[in-house]
Amino acid sequence: MGASTVDSTRAGRIGIVGGGIAGLTAAIALARDERFEVVVYEKAPEARGRGAALLVWSNAITALSSIGLADEVKNAAAALDVTEVRSAGGELLSSLPIGTWSERFGAPTVVIRRPVLLDILGAALPRATVKIGASLRSFTPGARGVRLCFEDGSMDDVDALIGADGLHSSVRRQLLGDEPTRAGGYDAWVGITPNRPEGLRTGVATATVGNGPRFWTAVLRDGSVFWYATLNRRGRPPIRRREELYEVFRDWPAPIAELIASTPDTELIRTQIRDRLPVDQWGAGPVTLLGDAAHPSTPDLGQGACQAIESAIVLGECVRGSAQIEGGFREYEQRRMPRTAAISRLCWMTASNSTIEGPLVCRLRDVAIRVGLESIARSSLQWILAGHAQ
Ligand SMILES: Cc1cc2nc3c(=O)[nH]c(=O)nc-3n(C[C@H](O)[C@H](O)[C@H](O)COP(=O)(O)OP(=O)(O)OC[C@H]3O[C@@H](n4cnc5c(N)ncnc54)[C@H](O)[C@@H]3O)c2cc1C
Repeated sequence: MGASTVDSTRAGRIGIVGGGIAGLTAAIALARDERFEVVVYEKAPEARGRGAALLVWSNAITALSSIGLADEVKNAAAALDVTEVRSAGGELLSSLPIGTWSERFGAPTVVIRRPVLLDILGAALPRATVKIGASLRSFTPGARGVRLCFEDGSMDDVDALIGADGLHSSVRRQLLGDEPTRAGGYDAWVGITPNRPEGLRTGVATATVGNGPRFWTAVLRDGSVFWYATLNRRGRPPIRRREELYEVFRDWPAPIAELIASTPDTELIRTQIRDRLPVDQWGAGPVTLLGDAAHPSTPDLGQGACQAIESAIVLGECVRGSAQIEGGFREYEQRRMPRTAAISRLCWMTASNSTIEGPLVCRLRDVAIRVGLESIARSSLQWILAGHAQ
């Protein structure tokens, strides 16, 4: 493979496969340097991502400030002040001052609709081209860069390739082989309802933990309510219909059942949660991986997209500061692997602890939350929220 050189006379053409949060953030970070021509290839008919909302923690807001987008994201989102943790009987077990913890690192933690975040990223890309409906089939590295082959038979040539094509990345499969994803042991349902029940306060998220299932809610900027429910698998057939989901949560504290019932079909998504074990190679030659393609994690700490944003910013810094794109790729991989691996492991551990079931062990869990969650959460979040530059 020939080295992809960056000098002041020759612009590098960088292809990014995947127009999700990782791919778009990287495109913005790279296109700030006029020596690069950046092309994003997105297989979906529009680069808006599918539904629902996300927690964007302060570490990602800080990372976004380096590309001038922190204020725009904050203005389109609702800041999170407190997460109340409750038992399925409604009892308050713990109250985590997320807002105060976040502001110590100079930025709020917010909840935002995923398509709104993607729109903000997309609008900040004046210098990059986004090719919609371009689904990568394979790539071939050669002496002069990388040839990309698409499902419709078309081809394109780039100097370097970034695979930001998500958990089931085809770039990763070709680069690292076809190793299977790992099941997190539970399914997640996410929804957004325009009907805000009385009593739900902006800035206060509620996490309700039961004997297996969990339910999380937060009010969005526009007053609608984002919720997130999890159901353990443990060999059981998956719940596929809203009516079955409703039955699971029917007797939980109000307004949980009401939120499930009032969510439009178009705003309801079920996902089987999966990740991959951290690996020690994300790239070779003029190719690297980014976001979920490189370091997927279960959503138990709400850090997958936040880490994708941090990685994209670091990738931009490394490539812009390096004499060769390849050198920048390798530096980025070395800088990002330890932190993302540690966070993926922490997410997996949190998933394992959160999916316990059985009345006695769950009662003990509730006692442990009451006694120790705040100090455990404070110390693990402190390290995460300090961000990639620590
Ligand atoms: C239920 C749930 C809740 C979550 N909540 C949070 C949260 O609160 N906070 C948080 O930070 N993270 C959260 N995450 C994680 C977050 O969604 C991911 O980490 C994030 O979306 C990763 O972004 P990405 O751009 O790497 O990948 P993706 O979002 O998967 O984007 C990949 C893009 O690549 C495109 N693509 C795929 N294959 C090809 C191809 N062959 N050719 C061209 N394009 C292709 C796809 O269409 C897609 O647009 C959650 C995840 C789940 C499942």
